[in-house]
Amino acid sequence: MKAIPIAFTLELKHPFTIAGFSRTSTPLLLLKLTYENVDGYGEASMVPYMGENHDTAAQFLQKVNWDRFVFPFNFPELIAYLDSLSPANPAVKAAIEIALNDINGKLLQKPCYEIYGADPAKMPLTSYTVGIAEPELMKEKLADAKDFKVIKVKLGTDNDKEVIRTIRSVTSLPLYIDANQGWADRKTAIALIYWLHDQGAVFIEQPMNKLDMEGNAWLTGRSPIPIIADEAVQRLTDIDKIKGSYHGINVKLMKSGGMYEAHQMILKARSYDMKVLIGCMSETSIATLAGMALAPLCNWADLDGPYLTRNNPFATPELQNGRYVLADLPGLGLKGLPNDLFIP
Ligand code: MG
Repeated sequence: MKAIPIAFTLELKHPFTIAGFSRTSTPLLLLKLTYENVDGYGEASMVPYMGENHDTAAQFLQKVNWDRFVFPFNFPELIAYLDSLSPANPAVKAAIEIALNDINGKLLQKPCYEIYGADPAKMPLTSYTVGIAEPELMKEKLADAKDFKVIKVKLGTDNDKEVIRTIRSVTSLPLYIDANQGWADRKTAIALIYWLHDQGAVFIEQPMNKLDMEGNAWLTGRSPIPIIADEAVQRLTDIDKIKGSYHGINVKLMKSGGMYEAHQMILKARSYDMKVLIGCMSETSIATLAGMALAPLCNWADLDGPYLTRNNPFATPELQNGRYVLADLPGLGLKGLPNDLFIP
């Protein structure tokens, strides 16, 4: 196995603000792996609050012995090997694992979604995320969202109702709400959740601090709409810790360390009768295609990465009536690869 990692900076269309945080770009690692003349592509999106960056990615890649990756790939064993190199670094692990999935599909001559048992006809709508901003900028952002049928709204500040009223002045689309741990008082939060339900909210992501299991569970016991864990759940083993405290989980490849474990998380959550949202970070088409391959197995999708960024180097996956279209191509189905990108 030969590896070419490229440090890349993904520029956002608009400054992205969530409760307690704002940024205009995201460091990425784009990875090309080549195995017996077959190329596979992976990506790490290293949003600052997760603790990874170009340096940590480079340090991790130096530890990897690429001779361990031999087809047919034994994903549980390879994931255990990557975890043995460092317990953390989920995004760079995802880059490697996604590239392996791409190669795996190409060697088997099957799309990744088929390998994971996902039916393209069951693709859910994907939402378009609007961060916290001044009303005029929010209206501008919503104008960019014309291809989408659901809006995801970041709340968790003092003016949550004002944000929703601004959105409602321009669109009546259903809303996915993400509080990003921003609500501190459970009684205020439940009153707000009822109000949001009346405003067309479909679910609430991570209302209270991830460590406040009791507060989030209290809301789950009373909310008229599903309460979804995001920050509170990273990997497969976390699901048992939060079971009963939330109605569902937000699975992200950059938290799970890639597609195989994300798939295991989806199956486990479903076996507990929990809902599943598949989410993303600021990503190019590579990680979006990897998420899309699993999206038909989930209740909801929030895979708008390429639509929120300025310099995605690849073709943007096709969206029809607010749903991504899975192409009948082996592996991830990445298109529009610039031939000068992966030059070591
Ligand atoms: Mg979230």
